[in-house]
Amino acid sequence: MKPAPFEYEAPESLDAALELMQEHGSEAKLLAGGQSLIPVMNFRLAQPAMLVDLNRLAELDFIRPGENGSVRIGAMTRMTRLERYAELERYSPLLAEAIPFIAHPQIRNRSTLGGSLSHADPAAEAPAVCLAEGARFRLARASGERWVAANDFFQGLFETVLEPEEILVEIELESPPVRTGSSFQEIARRQGDYALAGVAASVRLRDDGVIDAARLIFFSVGDQPVDATAAAGLLAGETPSAALYEAAAIEAAEKEIDPVGTIHATPDFTRHLVGVLTRRALALAVTRAQEASA
Ligand SMILES: Cc1cc2nc3c(=O)[nH]c(=O)nc-3n(C[C@H](O)[C@H](O)[C@H](O)COP(=O)(O)OP(=O)(O)OC[C@H]3O[C@@H](n4cnc5c(N)ncnc54)[C@H](O)[C@@H]3O)c2cc1C
Repeated sequence: MKPAPFEYEAPESLDAALELMQEHGSEAKLLAGGQSLIPVMNFRLAQPAMLVDLNRLAELDFIRPGENGSVRIGAMTRMTRLERYAELERYSPLLAEAIPFIAHPQIRNRSTLGGSLSHADPAAEAPAVCLAEGARFRLARASGERWVAANDFFQGLFETVLEPEEILVEIELESPPVRTGSSFQEIARRQGDYALAGVAASVRLRDDGVIDAARLIFFSVGDQPVDATAAAGLLAGETPSAALYEAAAIEAAEKEIDPVGTIHATPDFTRHLVGVLTRRALALAVTRAQEASA
């Protein structure tokens, strides 16, 4: 299939891109890595009258330290650049662990962090990671900008709070607090496929080894990432143990997700996977938190 006809602009600056978005609004689409948008256009599921190509905006391709141990990542930063950034694990261990699971190297050479987050595919890894790590996103428009927490950004199936004239320009991730461990787990049919189910988990320990707080974000289990707050709540104030992980796994699998089923995974199978992933992720996250405390 070929896309429907469209106008094309490749602005040289963010200001010029923002002006184009202000002018064309919902008639326009932004082109980042194109790894999701171009297939969608080829199937004519999207028929923008105007394509605004962000690929000349070097000002949106950066990784730099922020304040208080955070890292700031430009929206046009390619997944491969992030994968090769040796410091990423220190700033965002979950993102560092998740990136190799995102598609294939050829796709990661083009796809961008901003594109993945804006696309808001419920099976994507990056939104779950950003939720688990409490990321913040900077959204710009011609008349100004706003910061939005990851928690407020994702609104549903391929839905975010981005307005038609807005561009996601930057992502900020804060380094995990002390005595924190995390684990990213997913199960896919083949390496590079979208996950059948996955989880981004993080656990913070008190100095006596008891769990202080935990976060469990599941993806590919519904129409958007699921923040399993009840399962995480079972962990707080408890001593880590296999029985505790099992209780959290049952809570998450049976009460907090509502899978509709796909041709690859029935709802029951998805629940089974969520149970397995929860146990694995919690055991590893706690071990890492213990190592970080030693
Ligand atoms: C075979 C294949 C396998 C894949 N497997 C996976 C996988 O396992 N996991 C996974 O997460 N992804 C996977 N992907 C998707 C890939 O990672 C996408 O590229 C990514 O989700 C979108 O990033 P992009 O930079 O290509 O964005 P684009 O395709 O260019 O854009 C996607 C959407 O986001 C909008 N957009 C882009 N940038 C911005 C911005 N800065 N501000 C506002 N809106 C913006 C666009 O207008 C468009 O609507 C796969 C893709 C393919 C082709």
